[in-house]
Amino acid sequence: MRAAVLHEIGQEKLEVLDDVEAVGFGPGKVKLRIRATGLCHSDVSAMSGILPQPAPFIPGHEGAGEVVDVGDGVSGLSAGDRVLVCWLPACGACPSCKRGQTQLCLAGFMNAGTPNFKRPGGDVFGFAGTGTFTEEVVVGAGCAVPIPDDVPFEIAALIGCGVTTGLGAAINTAKVEAGSSVAVIGCGGVGISTIQGARVQGAAQIVAVDPVASRREAALRFGATEAVAPDQLADAKQRITGGEGFDYVFEVVGKSATARTAYEHTRRGGTLCVVGAGAMDDHFQVNMFELFFDEKRILPSMYGGGDVLRSYERAIALWRAGRIDLESMITHRVRLEEVNDALDQMRTGESLRTCIEL
Ligand SMILES: [Zn+2]
Ligand SMILES: [Zn+2]
Repeated sequence: MRAAVLHEIGQEKLEVLDDVEAVGFGPGKVKLRIRATGLCHSDVSAMSGILPQPAPFIPGHEGAGEVVDVGDGVSGLSAGDRVLVCWLPACGACPSCKRGQTQLCLAGFMNAGTPNFKRPGGDVFGFAGTGTFTEEVVVGAGCAVPIPDDVPFEIAALIGCGVTTGLGAAINTAKVEAGSSVAVIGCGGVGISTIQGARVQGAAQIVAVDPVASRREAALRFGATEAVAPDQLADAKQRITGGEGFDYVFEVVGKSATARTAYEHTRRGGTLCVVGAGAMDDHFQVNMFELFFDEKRILPSMYGGGDVLRSYERAIALWRAGRIDLESMITHRVRLEEVNDALDQMRTGESLRTCIEL
């Protein structure tokens, strides 16, 4: 079957090959036919080595499709079911799951070091234990989450990562209060979802911050009340908050420099919410005096910062009710053979989300 493969970490281009096989099917597993997959910034970060990932590997972790085959012992799924791919499946039994923090369950990650594809040349890994830039993939049953019939595959794919991550940061983690002031630094697919989450929560001002003009324009369509380039953020803080700082600042880039900017634009007693996925050697610095004296809350948010399945259901409910716009987030559609164009569109900031149709 066809799949897009990165041969070595640090390479910029994927090679679309037709000699790849999905392996590992058996008890507790399901085989999926992927129909749509989004390109998430984490895929690019894994390719460049910012996020740890063995190679060669197939990127993609934001996908949706149909169940092709179900292994022994799997209940609640059958061939033909429409599902989205959850890259962080909950085991339901560990202490994190029992607390309702399924986004912190590590059980599914135990499989991330096991290759789930092979080629004549050898084993191939899937990103984060999934790998959706492919026609078929074998995943644990917990990674296949049934979706209602009215949710198109491309919308379901986005809910599988970017939308859940961004909405959840505003709703679950920061718990944005009605009437508050918000700034969102980084307005790709996750940042746009954060803006939509802040709007759903009733924020009064939502300032979108991004160096790319097209993303600033997009942010205004999704609920930002104004959009500025990074060098205009200090002015916006002065104008909107009288210099005090925003009630909430979301860092959706994954770099210590932008996290520090976000911290400095958060008001005393306000909330810095860190959503971006960054590198292990990039250190965020706060001195002990400011940490104590300014009482700013630093809240990291991973995969929506709450029960993952509930977050999916909420995203679907909000989308169905017209409270969030997911269709317009898909700015580009490509075939798998055009995946390198999609990567370029993401790197230049031209796309919010590119959907690869399979
Ligand atoms: Zn992602
Ligand atoms: Zn668990």
